[in-house]
Amino acid sequence: MLEEIVVATGNPHKLDEVSRVLSGIGVRAVSLNDVTLPDGSPAGGAPEPVEDAATFAGNAAIKACYYAALTDRVCLADDSGLEVDALGGEPGVLSARYAGVDGDRATRDAANNAKLIAAIRKVPEGERTARFVCAMCVADPDGAILAEARGEFAGTVITEPRGSNGFGYDPLLELPEGKTSAELAPEEKNARSHRGQATRLIAQKLAAMV
Ligand code: IMP
Repeated sequence: MLEEIVVATGNPHKLDEVSRVLSGIGVRAVSLNDVTLPDGSPAGGAPEPVEDAATFAGNAAIKACYYAALTDRVCLADDSGLEVDALGGEPGVLSARYAGVDGDRATRDAANNAKLIAAIRKVPEGERTARFVCAMCVADPDGAILAEARGEFAGTVITEPRGSNGFGYDPLLELPEGKTSAELAPEEKNARSHRGQATRLIAQKLAAMV
């Protein structure tokens, strides 16, 4: 009987989103910092695994298996990003480090968004289709994959950012109704987003096990 899952993320928004969905099936979500390793240190302080897979699903599995082995608990991990059709799927698995800039999240997001705007300007309007993708994976400490899921959130890339909610590329993805992802209220984004969809699918799969 699965009662608790360690969510392998340092992002409090992701933990909150996942917690809400998993609580619906009676599973408690805890963060890496809630788990103490045998040497007394928090699991969140351990070195991060190298995410060098070519796909979101591959990176999610690397993270889930690594943290499940590290913590000796069932772990959930996700990997997400933006795929732009006219850019051959870029920034894709490199979304977080597209512009190659270090610094805090706001600095990296601004550099990534500037690079995306420059790239999309060269693409004819009408060919700027894109989607956020989220792959999620749950693994046990022996490296067995217990559940996997994928969600997508589609729109078109614009060159004038709009909206102040969310993070990352949210102000640049215009949804079919004309709002950007950053113009959605957080609850609405969670209800429709790639990550929300993947989390609900994972919960359905886990519900069959708990
Ligand atoms: P990660 O899964 O936390 O590594 O996120 C990868 C990167 O993809 C983020 O840094 C963002 O640039 C982008 N990304 C993923 N999900 C979203 C989203 O919901 N909105 C905007 N950007 C996102």
